[in-house]
Formats: sequence, structure tokens, C-alpha cells
Amino acid sequence: MPEQYASVIIDISHEKVDRPFQYRVPAAMREEITAGCCVSVPFGRGNTPRKGYVIGLSSQAEIEEARIKDIAGIVAEEESVERSLIRLAAWMRERYGGTMIQALKTVLPAHKKMKSLEQRAVRLALSREEAEALLAECTKKHHLARARLLEALLQTADGVLPYTLVTGKLHIAAQNIRGLKEKGILAVDTTSIYRNPVSDRVRGAGEEARKQLSEEQTHVIADMMKRFEQGDLRPSLLHGITGSGKTEVYIRLIEETVRQGRQAIVLIPEIALTYQTLLRFYRHFGDRVSVMNSTLSPGEKYDQFRRAREGEIDVMIGPRSALFTPFRSLGLIIIDEEHEMTYKSETAPRYHARETAIARASLAEGGAMVLLGSATPSLEAYTAARTGRYQLYTLTKRLTGGTLANVRIADLRAELKAGNRSPFSRDLTMLLTDRLQRGEQAMLFLNRRGLHSFLSCRSCGYVFRCPHCDVSLTEHRGGKLVCHYCGYTEAAVKICPSCASPYVSAFKAGTQQMEEELKKRFPTARVMRMDADTTRTKNSYEEILSAFADYKADILVGTQMIVKGHDFPLVTLVGVLAADLSLNIQDFRAAERTFQLLTQAAGRAGRGERPGEVVFQTYEPEHFAILASAAQDYARFYEEEMLYRSMLKYPPAAHMLAVFLFSPSEEAALSFAKRLRARLEKADAALPAEERAILIGPTPARVSFVEDVYRFALYVKQGSVERLVALRGLLEKEEVPANVSVQFDTDPMRTL
Ligand code: ADP
Ligand code: ZN
Ligand code: ZN
Repeated sequence: MPEQYASVIIDISHEKVDRPFQYRVPAAMREEITAGCCVSVPFGRGNTPRKGYVIGLSSQAEIEEARIKDIAGIVAEEESVERSLIRLAAWMRERYGGTMIQALKTVLPAHKKMKSLEQRAVRLALSREEAEALLAECTKKHHLARARLLEALLQTADGVLPYTLVTGKLHIAAQNIRGLKEKGILAVDTTSIYRNPVSDRVRGAGEEARKQLSEEQTHVIADMMKRFEQGDLRPSLLHGITGSGKTEVYIRLIEETVRQGRQAIVLIPEIALTYQTLLRFYRHFGDRVSVMNSTLSPGEKYDQFRRAREGEIDVMIGPRSALFTPFRSLGLIIIDEEHEMTYKSETAPRYHARETAIARASLAEGGAMVLLGSATPSLEAYTAARTGRYQLYTLTKRLTGGTLANVRIADLRAELKAGNRSPFSRDLTMLLTDRLQRGEQAMLFLNRRGLHSFLSCRSCGYVFRCPHCDVSLTEHRGGKLVCHYCGYTEAAVKICPSCASPYVSAFKAGTQQMEEELKKRFPTARVMRMDADTTRTKNSYEEILSAFADYKADILVGTQMIVKGHDFPLVTLVGVLAADLSLNIQDFRAAERTFQLLTQAAGRAGRGERPGEVVFQTYEPEHFAILASAAQDYARFYEEEMLYRSMLKYPPAAHMLAVFLFSPSEEAALSFAKRLRARLEKADAALPAEERAILIGPTPARVSFVEDVYRFALYVKQGSVERLVALRGLLEKEEVPANVSVQFDTDPMRTL
């Protein structure tokens, strides 16, 4: 029998994660040792026994066999949180590729032990009388420093002063304090304070009045709890428009979980981690809740994780990475706005938080509940709910009052025909004028995420698309139109093939340009702009939204970031300036993205007492994503979009692996890509045709040449995820040329 070797990381003090050590698995332990096992191993020159965790097994020795030591024994220990996180890392590595070390660093993210902040205080150890006597003596003997300190301490109510004040303002040397401490005159108290990223503003808030839950809300909670007790660990999907009471359901479920002595993780897209949202959680859970976000220092992150491990908090709120909070008895994971792109990591391991949350929940002792919430569920989640892999719950009523806005679709082709060349349709102009007169507010929204220069006809709206992939073609210099999925190329023309108009041009528009146009058209209106440029500094996002909420402007123009966050009761008009921008990003998820953005944007109008109106400006007024979002009809959108995905075998109808290749040498990247393709063809050759993977490419990436590096993509579509993962395993074994680098992305959210 061949030898078996285990990669072991020693202790899990996180600095050590960098490097695993190989040990031989004695024959007697083979059955028992798996990834995640805790073992005892001899370590270092002295062969000191140390505890370690097995992170992987292999039959190949990485160093000289004679130097590999044997595992001494298996350490029986309770299911620890580290162990389940290591298992999770192993699952992530398997599912998404990359190295085990990358996966471990993701799940055990605090690399360095940081000194926790300590607060020291100087306290009088004598009675007041004794201290006063001593003060008199010191003054007499001209021990001025001592006298100063005693006097200051005696002036306080409790005889305590912050250490920093004593050494700072009072100019007492640390040496002096030590001396007085030794004489029993002073004591120095040290309290460790965790860096708590939650501002005092939020913590000071009072309790929230308890709401009577609606029938729908009550049903969701009762049914989820019942299913959990019965051992039904399928994830749940909560489908409900904004304002339908999802967050209230989250809060009640967390309360139940905490009551049972378990903890909860709440994932929220970073952009939605606003003061208002946090306030609601604080009002319920006070100091038992903590928050992670990308502005935390490593020290703050470390402290938050330590607090979780030590049982000082019950609830962690944060973006993707909060998923790895080391709670000891995790009972619930909530993912709000589960359809958001930011739940996918864009660095290795390129994991998706939804799938990873489900894996983590199943690894938690006794299992944990998973609840996904969205007004516009991802096709992945909705498909899972329809096929019974998830349990679907629906909230149908808006609880805040306010009616659903009335949506108009403005056909920009007709505008051009009528001689209107401004970026604002006649409908939108009329409504803006009206709102300004009535003293109400408007939001104008340019959904330019992923903007690139697709070519379209401004007269009839015709978009140049790939006949094979049905994504828009990208205009390249030299007058070529290229499909970056399959490489299809055609010559760019100056005349529209559909209506013969000469108005064929790349679609380009920016928020700044819109702001200027607005000022020209409505000179008295107060206009604010919110985009990547105006939100560079830390609090600018909140500041702009607060100012707008305080009616410091009439019109807010911005990118998709304005559709999140605050409620604006005075906003009674929302305009989407160019709904096609996100429709024509070259990606198979373009229609889904558009539907989500438009639905969200429409939901912003009429949140207060007054009814709202919405205008979608578009060159494609008959596109189903635009029509379905105008009608707030998710089911209709889902049916049509799924048809397209099924026909072309895009996720979730199938699974898709993207292989990205980078090289300074075009030739090297391309020839390696071709080799990978040949490898895949060979692997599938024996399969019946319908079970084989569908291969596309290699083709130049959308942005095919960046900073002197050529980028190619190869796409692999396969119905079975196991089969797809196995194919990726084969590709990972291929030797990569020195000047080429390769990245794998399973079920990508973006395509290059
Ligand atoms: P969502 O998360 O779906 O947007 P929320 O939970 O934030 O919805 O609820 C929307 C509004 O309705 C909030 O102001 C919330 O306080 C209120 N709300 C939620 N549930 C109830 C309820 N059962 N009764 C009254 N108001 C509620
Ligand atoms: Zn045309
Ligand atoms: Zn194509």
C-alpha cells in the first residue's frame, strides 16, 4: 500500500497558517484521519508534541521521505469552531479551486495577533484622610510631582484618573507612578477594551417599540422554526419587496436563535450597512451585536472575531467576510439582498457567500438555519426554491403604507424622432418641472455599472449583438465588432442595418454630464450628484444621502448607489435615464442585473404619503426585463430569463467555469489556452455527446490587453457541478508556462 501523508497546520494561532507541514499517516490511523482532524505531532528539533489540524491528504511526499515524521496520535476533542472552519476551507478549495492556504486565510482571516487596546487608570489606594495627610507632607518636603498627583486624585469623586491624563497633563513620569504603586499609595487598574466599531451614536439609542407581526411574517417565523426542529435543514428564501417586513423577520428569528443559546450571522451588502439599518439591530441586541466592514483595521477585525469566539456577542452583521465569524454554536445565517454581486469574491478562492453559507450551516454542530432575503431573488436562488431545494416564503404587502409607484416607459427613439436630443424625455421633463413647482424631490439614476462601449442606433434602438451568444458586441479600434464570449467578429458599419439611419454610435454617458444638463435645463433647481467621484472619502456617502433626506437639494443624480439606503418621503419621482446601459453590458446576467436595478429604483418613489411616479427611459421599450420591472412582475421576468439561460446553458440552467489566462505574450496565453481546451475535449471524448461539456473559446477578454498583459477567456458549461469541478481539477494539474497565469472562476458573476 502506498504511503499516505497529511498536511498539518500547527496550532491555529493564525500566523502559522502560512505553511503546513507534512506528516506520515501511520497505517493504523488511516481510516480515521480526514481533513479537519485534530492530531498530535512531534514538532521541531526537540520533537515537542504539538497539536495540529489536518488540512489535506496526499500520497506524494513533498520533502525527502526520510525526513517526514509520523503523526503521533489523534486528539479527541469536541467539535471546535476551528475544526468546522477548516472543513469549510476544504469544501471551498474543492468547489472553487485555488490553494488550501488561500482558503484557510479566507476562513481564518485575522493573520496577526494584535495587541488589544487597554485602558489604564490610576486609583488612590489610601483613604481620603491618609491621602490628605500625605499631600501635606509632600508639599512640605517639596515633592511637587507627588503633591500634584495627590491633589488631582483628591479632587475627583472616586479617586480615579485615566493613566494617560496622569502622564500627560499632570506630567508624572511612569517611573514615579510605579514607585507610588510599590509603596501602596496608588493602584493601576487595567481594563481591556475591545475596539468596538459601532459608534456611540448608535449604542445610545433606546429600545424600539415591539410591533405586532403580520400574519405573513408570523407564518415565516413559525414555519422556519418548526422545520428546523424537525431537522429540515434546507435553506429558506424570503421573497418580498422593499418595505414588506423582511428585516423584522430577521430580527425575530435572531431573537429566537439567541434565546436558544445560539448565535447568528447577518450578511448585508456593504453599501446597505447604513446607520438606519444598524440602529434597528442595536435597539434589539444592544452590545451583543457587532459589525464588520471593510474600513475596520486588522486589529478591529481581530477583536470582533475574538469577542465572537469568547461568547461576548451573539450577532455579527457585515459583508461577505462576516460569514467566517467564529461563533461556537452558530444557529442562523441570514443573507439580505442575496442577489447582490458583491456576495461573490473576486479573488481566490472565488467563493459565493450564498453557497458557502449553506456549507457552513451544514458543518455547524446540529446544523444552522439559512435564510436568504430579496425583493428580486437571483435566478439561482429562485430556481432552487422552485425545485424544492430551498423553501420559499413570500411577503406580499408593503407595511409602510405608500402605494406602488406608477411606471411610465419613455421611448428614446420616439424622442429623437420628435426632435428632442436632450438626455431627458418629454415625460421626464414635464414631471421634473411639476415636482420642482410642488417642492417635492426627484432622483435620477444612471445605471452605468459595467459600462463599456456597445454600439447602438440612436434612431431605432438597434443594438449590435452576437448571433451566437446574444450579448452585445464590443467596438474595437480598427472598426471591428467583437463578441468576447465566442470570438465572433464583424465589421462595424456607419449605417443602421435595421432602419438605415446614420445615428449609429457607441453609447456613452456620465453622471457629471447629466448634472450639467440638469443645471442648464432647470437653472433654479438645487442638484446634487452621487457617484464614485463624489463618494471618495469615508463618510461622503452617508453625508450626501443625509443632506438629500434633509431637503438640501431638489434633485439627486447618481449611479446605482443612490437606490439603496435611506427612505426619502419627499421623493415622488424617480427617473432612470438610460435603462439600456445595464442591459447591454456584455454579460449573460445583463437582463437580470437590469431587472434588479430598475425594480429597486422604482421602489424608491412614493415611500411616503404622496404617490410616486417613475420614468424608465430606454431604446428598447419592449424588452422583457424593462416591461417586467415596470409591472413589478418578478414571475414574468423569471420565466423569460430562465428560458434564455436554458437555451444557451448559462447558470443556473447549467454550471459554468470561466478560465481566465493572462500573459505578456499573446502567443503564450493563446497556445496554453488551446492546450487546456484540448485537454477538456480529451477528457470528455468517451462521454455521450449530450453529457459533454460545452466549450467556448479561448477568446480575447472584453478588455483584451491591459497594461501590456493579454487576457483570454475559456468557458466551460456543464450540467453537473461535480463533473465541472472534476474538469477544473484536470486543468489545475496542467503545467502552466512561466509567463502565463491562470485563474478559475466557478459560476462567475462577471465575465472578463
Ligand atoms: P424590508 O426589510 O422588507 O424592507 P422592513 O422589515 O424594514 O422591510 O419593514 C418595513 C417597515 O415596516 C419598517 O419601517 C418596519 O419598522 C415596519 N414594519 C415591519 N414589520 C411590521 C409590522 N409587523 N407592523 C408594523 N410595521 C412593521
Ligand atoms: Zn436603426
Ligand atoms: Zn458570441
